[in-house]
This record gives sequence, C-alpha cells and structure tokens, in this order.
Amino acid sequence: MEGDKYYEELGVAVRVVHLACSLCQRVQEGLVSMSSDQVKSKDDDSPVTVADWGVQATVSWILSEIFGGQNVSIVAEEDVQTLSKVDSAGLLETVVNTVNECLAEAPNYGLPRPDNVLGTSQILETISRCNSTGGPTGRHWILDPVDGTLGFVRKDQYAIALALMEDGELILGVLGCPNYPMKKEWLNYHHEYYQSMSQMSPPASDSWEKGCVMYARKGTGEAWMQPLVHQQKKLEWPNSARLICVSSIDDPALATFCESVQKANSNHSFTAGVAHSAGLRKQPLRVYSMVKYAAIARGDAEIFMKFARSGYKEKIWDHAAGVVIIEEAGGVVTDAGGRPLDFSKGVYLEGLDRGIIACSGATLHEKIIGAVYASWDSSNL
Ligand SMILES: [Mg+2]
Repeated sequence: MEGDKYYEELGVAVRVVHLACSLCQRVQEGLVSMSSDQVKSKDDDSPVTVADWGVQATVSWILSEIFGGQNVSIVAEEDVQTLSKVDSAGLLETVVNTVNECLAEAPNYGLPRPDNVLGTSQILETISRCNSTGGPTGRHWILDPVDGTLGFVRKDQYAIALALMEDGELILGVLGCPNYPMKKEWLNYHHEYYQSMSQMSPPASDSWEKGCVMYARKGTGEAWMQPLVHQQKKLEWPNSARLICVSSIDDPALATFCESVQKANSNHSFTAGVAHSAGLRKQPLRVYSMVKYAAIARGDAEIFMKFARSGYKEKIWDHAAGVVIIEEAGGVVTDAGGRPLDFSKGVYLEGLDRGIIACSGATLHEKIIGAVYASWDSSNL
C-alpha cells in the first residue's frame, strides 16, 4: 500500500522491469539468428547480446536518477569489456540507440527520461557503474539484465531479474518474463505460434497476453503478477496486478519439477536420481532462466532443483528475485542442506550446501531434501 516502507522502491522496480521487458521484446523481434554482430561470447563462452547491456544501462540509469545518482549500489552481471573492444563498435552503437529509444518511452511507464540523448561514454559509464559487490551492510540492488540469454537468443524463455537487499536481507524481488504467458495453457504453444495468431486476430482478452511481471515484497505474504503492457500504452501500477500463489499439490507422484535446460548448469542425472527416490513420476520440465522460479510461484510447477558441477559458484543475481517471489507466494527455497540462501557474502552464494531446492510447500521440500541425502553418497558430483 501507498505509504508502506519500500512502496516507492517496489513501484520503481516493477516499472523499470516492465520497461526492460519492452526493450528485450524489441531486440528479440529484430534478432534474425545467432549472428556474430548480434550475439557475442563472453570469456566463459556464455552468450551476451544488445539486450543484456541495454537493460543494464536502462535500469542503472533509472535507479541512479531516482535514488541518488552515483551512490546507488547495483550488483549486476555485465561489464563493458566485450563491448569496449575495437570489433564491437557496431554493437556498441546499437546498444546506445536501443537504450535511448527505450528511455524515450520511460514516461509511459511512470519513469523519468533523460533531457538529452545519452552519448556512448555515458552509456558505458552507466553500465560499468553496476560493479558493486554487495555485502552484509547497506542497500544494494541486484540485477540480472537478461537471465537465460541462450533462451532469449532462441526466442524461448528468459527473464529480467531485479531484487533489493538491505543489510544482508532481501527486501524486494521483481521478475519480468516476456515470453511466459499469463495463463499456463498458452505455455504449450510456441512463441511463434502466438505471434502468428496474434497477427491474424488481435488478442481479445488477457488470456492471450504473452508475458508478465511478477513481484513481491518480503514479509507481506503476497506475490503479484501483472501482464506486460502493449507498446505505446501506459503502464498502470498496481491496478492491473493480481495475487499469485503456489500449487497445493503435495503428492510427489503428481508434482512437476523444473530443471535447467543446459547440462553445464545442472547435473541432470543426479536430479533424475533424486526425483526417482523422492517418488516424482512426471517428466522434468526443462526451462531456461528464472522462469523456473516464476513457474513455481504461480503454481504451474512444484519443484526446482539445481545441483551445479563442482567448481561452479552460483551468483546472487541468478536467484535473488525468484527466491523472494516464491517465498511470498507460499513456497520454500533453501540449499540442499535445508538452510536459507545467503545473499550477503558478495557476488556469489557463498557456503551453499550442494545445490538449490525450491518447492511449493514444506511437505515436498522435506521429501526432496531427504532424497538428496539418500542419493548424495552414491553420486560423484
Ligand atoms: Mg544474464
């Protein structure tokens, strides 16, 4: 409610994620294929696009403008290394144009816009300003500008994730899911099917609407979902938001579990063993990005498990927003030892016990944790 602590922060976060979703949709529509001038590889070989830098610049500019200039602490995924390379000049120009086009529409989202077009050096500075490492004191925004870039490039699921942490505790979580339909039934249809259908006959009701923003404030026991606005329309917030909650299924045989698409990110054979031992019977739902968290928060799935290979360290921006939303929607998220995730130790989830387990409720959660202990000794992660 208006006047509540963090009401302004929540409003800005929801609005800026909506704005970021529109930027991503525009970039994705123009993305013909994984061509080298549109998709770059980072040092770890993960892909990065105009949208990753564009969203980071946009969110950084807006948060700095509203919450106190250079002093705003933002922990975010991207840096400007790849973008500043000589062979990236064309890419950089596209980023600059995309950000300026996006910010020009910010007033439609109830957000400020710059008085003048931002130049290249300003955009680079705005992106590289998000180099905070977080920590246990003070206020930090945590941003993954595009989570699941591979899903984005493949025109599949991806998310924009923004969270706020204060003195080591998560306060707010906002997840933009531009290809995740408001209603579960539409998940069965491919994105391009949706596009061709909506061109033939424009959406008549919000059952057709593709894409949503979910958000929650810690401690309220409420999580919300709002459809994306069509371009040129004004965002009304919080008017068109509605409450979401986790599924009530607690029988493992009826539960759906989500896991990462990419094998490099998660050990599929170990999760299959845990799933079997916990009595899960359905095929896993492999989903790119934090849309997995969104699926659980909204009751479309019951379980998410991720056991990274040894040596891989989870980053806070890949989980923070999703954790707040699932918890407020009624679910449970812990490490595999049953302990809460600690976002206050810097960029990584330090001290994480084996993996991450998110469930719609305590009954399933206990069963999964039990199955992890039973399976662990026989595994060689
Ligand atoms: Mg990312």
